[in-house]
Amino acid sequence: MKILADFNLSELTEELAKFNLPKYKAAQVFKWVLRGVDFDGMTDIDKNTRNLLKQNFIAVPLDIETKLVSKDKTQKYLYKLYDGNVIEGVLMNYKYGKTLCVSTQIGCRMGCKFCASTLNGLVRSLTAGEILAQVIVANRINGGTIEKREITNIVLMGSGEPFDNYENVVKFLKNANAPEGLNISYRNISLSTCGLVPEMKAFADLELPINLTISLHSPYDERRKEIMPIANKYSIAEITQAAKYYFEKTKRRVIFEYTLIEGQNDSEKDARRLAELVRGFSSHINLIRLNPVKERGLKATKEDKAQKFLEMLEKMNVSATIRRQMGVDINGACGQLRNSYLEKNAER
Ligand code: SAH
Repeated sequence: MKILADFNLSELTEELAKFNLPKYKAAQVFKWVLRGVDFDGMTDIDKNTRNLLKQNFIAVPLDIETKLVSKDKTQKYLYKLYDGNVIEGVLMNYKYGKTLCVSTQIGCRMGCKFCASTLNGLVRSLTAGEILAQVIVANRINGGTIEKREITNIVLMGSGEPFDNYENVVKFLKNANAPEGLNISYRNISLSTCGLVPEMKAFADLELPINLTISLHSPYDERRKEIMPIANKYSIAEITQAAKYYFEKTKRRVIFEYTLIEGQNDSEKDARRLAELVRGFSSHINLIRLNPVKERGLKATKEDKAQKFLEMLEKMNVSATIRRQMGVDINGACGQLRNSYLEKNAER
């Protein structure tokens, strides 16, 4: 069955015309979908039409199965999809608004050694509408509307590698940005990749002013290969070249994610090499202490050592910050909540 949230307004108009539904009805249905309302709640659509739609489409392809609220007010959602699969999302509160972290795949096949999303491999990629529906539903349950959105920012940093699902992710971004859709500015969207170079370049060519974040985690290719299998395919030199190209095309400062893992990437030598790597182009380094995943056996760099790492970078005039850890008490790291759900269900 087709998912209504996958269509933009003109595509939906065309699709519903096949059922002899007029343009104005397509516009009404489109609004309901953006509000996260299922067929039964579409009060200005007559019953016959609603039944027709029900037989042929899925409106909003997911809903919230579990919601956890952290001491710091971070919310974590476990979404259940219409096919029974589960994915997760995190909502973080900042002074400027609310940022929703969305998943782009069910599981992940990149295999990063510290990440929980990849423990059970990739189940499948999400469609554009399944990604958008995470925003729609989170907005709805936080009291947001289309005109007055509660979700102001989106980060594609949940489970999955966005560029391993390139077409659907690009369609999602365009639909989320569409003025007749949720109308979210590209500047309020960040996409994080583990470094798929050809897709980074193709994405740059689209010239969308989206913030690109690259998961680096070590300035050395050899160490990177040990913690991120994708490093066997693309070198750091190729990644930084693609990052520069992205900056030239979009004029957006590129951000490097650097998860600090004890004894793996947190030495003085690492900091120096990292500084050399980013010298001379507009970038920023986001340090985050590892959120330990029990199956992985890796430890976070201690707080004082992380602080020293930051100071070393600052001394070398590198723009860097340590990201606050949020929602640690509620399985905040990618994939942790889904895994505990899968484990529990397997026990049953
Ligand atoms: N696949 C994409 C996006 C998902 S992960 C990517 O690799 O960028 C979003 C960020 O969280 C990445 O930088 C990732 O490396 C990091 N991350 C994953 N698990 C983590 C953990 N347990 N602790 C800290 N950071 C983690």
